[in-house]
Amino acid sequence: MSNLDQLPQEAICGGDPSAGPATDLLPGAEVAIGTRGLRVTRTLPSRTRRMVGAWCFLDHFGPAELATSGGMGIPPHPHTGLQTVSWLVRGDMLHRDSLGSEQRIRPGQLNLMTAGRAIAHSEESPEDADPWVHGVQLWVALPAEHRHTDPGFAHHADLPVITGGGAETTVFMGSLAGLTSPARAFSPLVGAEIRLAPGAETELPLRTDFEHAALALTGTAEVAGTAEVAGTALSGGPLLYLGTGRESLRLTSEGGARLLLLGGEPFAEEIVMWWNFVGRSHDEIVADRTEWMDGDRFGVVRGYDGPPLPAPPMPATRLRPRGREPR
Ligand code: MN
Repeated sequence: MSNLDQLPQEAICGGDPSAGPATDLLPGAEVAIGTRGLRVTRTLPSRTRRMVGAWCFLDHFGPAELATSGGMGIPPHPHTGLQTVSWLVRGDMLHRDSLGSEQRIRPGQLNLMTAGRAIAHSEESPEDADPWVHGVQLWVALPAEHRHTDPGFAHHADLPVITGGGAETTVFMGSLAGLTSPARAFSPLVGAEIRLAPGAETELPLRTDFEHAALALTGTAEVAGTAEVAGTALSGGPLLYLGTGRESLRLTSEGGARLLLLGGEPFAEEIVMWWNFVGRSHDEIVADRTEWMDGDRFGVVRGYDGPPLPAPPMPATRLRPRGREPR
């Protein structure tokens, strides 16, 4: 749940959007989340790259068997300044929030929660869930002009799909190849799931001003090759950062694969990410934390069987705003 990293350097400001194409494999960190011990691989923020577009957090969990992993059990906790994006490959998840929303999701559907100025939510594996769980949870940082917006929650079961070349691509956030998700985004970005059949060979058009990254959810795919040169073999674990300036992305897979594609305009603002808050200053985060522990700004999540999550203590040093990549 916590994003407090121990990065010793101070990041001064946003990176260089003209840096061009890249193929950098960013290893993830293994962390346990919630009260049931489900383990996730966290690839954003990473030590060398904090954001891809406005995407500022990426946890990949499972495939895990509920009986042995305990499944998802994240008690009520607060968020500010971001959207949470929940996407499943397998299983079920039950979302509850302080607006009174209660929504179960299944694979291929999107749960999108906009925290804005304040929201609290819980996420858990329902009692009659599929015995396996596999998916991702992502956060999108809200730009300054929208970060105090009203909190909201939306469930989208009907999302646009691109087909061709043995691939099916569901656009769950933003736009890709002329198709746009109905989900509300606050900055130009894309989030998509690409399912490659065995032997698939496909090419997706990209926006050259976006930076992109890909993660393998299942199987192995070759990413960003050409007809002559093999792409980078990508399978479970790391996030492949693809940089900017790409007109298209070629994807092939011998045995079949399922990929997550993220992208967006390089995020120009410096942010402070601590625990579940995205703000702009140390003092703002302190105020958010105090409100969660002692105030009523975040409201109450009803129906979760257990106490809310207490905030961890503030670190001994002041939090500093950081850009999208350390430098
Ligand atoms: Mn959350």
